[in-house]
Amino acid sequence: MFRQSRLSSGILEQNTYLWCPTCQTESRHHVHYVAGLLHWLQCERCLQRWDVKRVLLASAYCRMLPSRIATKPVRVTLEVRSHPLRFAASLPRRVLTKPLRLVDEAVDVVGLAHQ
Ligand SMILES: [Zn+2]
Repeated sequence: MFRQSRLSSGILEQNTYLWCPTCQTESRHHVHYVAGLLHWLQCERCLQRWDVKRVLLASAYCRMLPSRIATKPVRVTLEVRSHPLRFAASLPRRVLTKPLRLVDEAVDVVGLAHQ
């Protein structure tokens, strides 16, 4: 069981039950993703936190970004076919905010914010 919440364009937080090596039991963990990549997770029982090294996160992001860009036309086409009116209504805002969302995501990945 987990709760999912999206804080900004590139950050996703979930709660889930995982085995904690410190507590030696299954306990609820807070899992933090940035740009779809695991950023850190924390046991809510003992508060032990595990962080993914920034250099590894940035490296994974740089490897992932070209494929995200390459698959965007396919994803947009699928969205147009499944929800044409919703897509048309959201398009102006999305076109205007996409560059800002990408910058925000990159800032999150390299750790200039949200330490
Ligand atoms: Zn623990």
